Amino acid sequence: VTAWQDKNITVAGLGVSGISAARALAGLGAVVTVVDNGDGDAQRARAAELAAEGITVRLGRLEDGGHAGEVLPEGTELVVTSPGWKPDSPLFEAAAAAGVDVVGDVEIAWQLREVGQELRAARSGAADASAPRKDPAPWLAITGTNGKTTTTQMLASILKAAGLRTAAVGNIGTPIIDVVLGEQEYDVLAVELSSYQLHWAPSLRVHSAAVLNLAPDHLDWHGSMEAYAADKGRIYEGNTVACVYNVADRATEDLVVEADVEEGCRAIGFTLGAPGPSMLGIVDGILVDRAFVENRQKNAQELAEVKDVNPPAPHNIANALAAAALARAFGVEPRAVRDGLRDFRPDAHRVAYVDEVASVTYIDDSKATNTHAAEASLAAFEPVVWIAGGLAKGATFDELVQKSAKRLRGAVLIGADRALIAEALARHAPEVPVVDLDRTDTGAMLAAVREAAALAEPGDTVLLAPACASMDMFANYNKRGDAFADAVRELAAENAADT
Ligand code: ADP
Repeated sequence: VTAWQDKNITVAGLGVSGISAARALAGLGAVVTVVDNGDGDAQRARAAELAAEGITVRLGRLEDGGHAGEVLPEGTELVVTSPGWKPDSPLFEAAAAAGVDVVGDVEIAWQLREVGQELRAARSGAADASAPRKDPAPWLAITGTNGKTTTTQMLASILKAAGLRTAAVGNIGTPIIDVVLGEQEYDVLAVELSSYQLHWAPSLRVHSAAVLNLAPDHLDWHGSMEAYAADKGRIYEGNTVACVYNVADRATEDLVVEADVEEGCRAIGFTLGAPGPSMLGIVDGILVDRAFVENRQKNAQELAEVKDVNPPAPHNIANALAAAALARAFGVEPRAVRDGLRDFRPDAHRVAYVDEVASVTYIDDSKATNTHAAEASLAAFEPVVWIAGGLAKGATFDELVQKSAKRLRGAVLIGADRALIAEALARHAPEVPVVDLDRTDTGAMLAAVREAAALAEPGDTVLLAPACASMDMFANYNKRGDAFADAVRELAAENAADT
């Protein structure tokens, strides 16, 4: 019997994380109700499945008025929310008025770690009931505006190379509650956390954490930059070993300074320059650690070469340093850092090499959905023909264009908000040739790639780094990146036929 037995819990949202939370909590004996405003066919099918498992689901418009997702079911003792739900949602206001706590999936997973250990011990047969019970796996956590997934996967790769049982979890892959309660036993977890998840995880206290960078994003959800930063900063609260920050991004260091941590917890910086004490950085193409040095004869420890990082673009080297810092905080050997970085393969559409056509290199960074990300990938190439545009989500482009202007051979603009980028280019880079492509049909990306090819000279890079969301023209950033790669393949075929 656990503390969850008979607890009356309302889960907000019938999505992947909501379903995972509902099943896990019902499995522990809680009385679970899932609420959602939607009531389409997909939702009804999922609701029927859950109902068969004894979970109540309330969808759409309620008979006695109001929407299911807005009314707090009577007797609710705890609300578990899903990422998309805004903090000012009526359901949470009702919960606050009733004095009921609202938490997210990460908070639940954090609270269930001991339960997970007990379940695994019970499963492996009470044969050895006298064996000392192991502590749950520590968490090494990562947040930031950009680079979270990549850095978390790099960290998992390094931990694996060190022979540790680990997984990249959190905002990636299998829902974190399922991992914590699952059969697989872990030594340590690499956990990606979004600002939403941090907002709703009040008791989280991890081993070590990194904030990679902080730029305006999701401000509509958080309300303000201050609130967004404060939610990100929660990741450092209660850290026991290391708070890892970005030396080039003062805001991340400020969050370390403001955090309450355990005694002995250290602030560790990462930098693309030469590292000071308590930092990791780069010296002559080598990733160097001046924070966790075992050999007292030396004051720096070589970890890996820049060319071990995949791809070796500046922002990605920063990601590698952050991952290395967390791994070193956990006691991982230098050699495993190198091997783990060498083994790492980035996910698709993240500064991915597509092809070389007529001595021009084509790179797909469709995942650069905000200006901060696009700025990072533009900084890795010169001269570059930039394909950009889509949904701006309220962003402004002046800073991005100012910082990148000198690298640009030209720009090809697509999508709904392309005029905003065109205006910024006209203001800050009037000499850069711009093709404004007024098309949203399925052939638009091929047209954009052809225009870019025409602007490019041998040795240049054509980079898709839209700085915008994709939903005006594509289902998601994956589809946008695929369309780009298809277009480049078509260009290559035409080119082969011509020569
Ligand atoms: P997230 O999980 O935070 O969205 P990803 O690892 O998926 O981050 O990378 C998203 C995009 O952000 C990449 O395509 C790249 O353009 C950009 N990016 C990656 N790392 C960084 C970084 N450290 N700083 C700035 N931009 C980055």
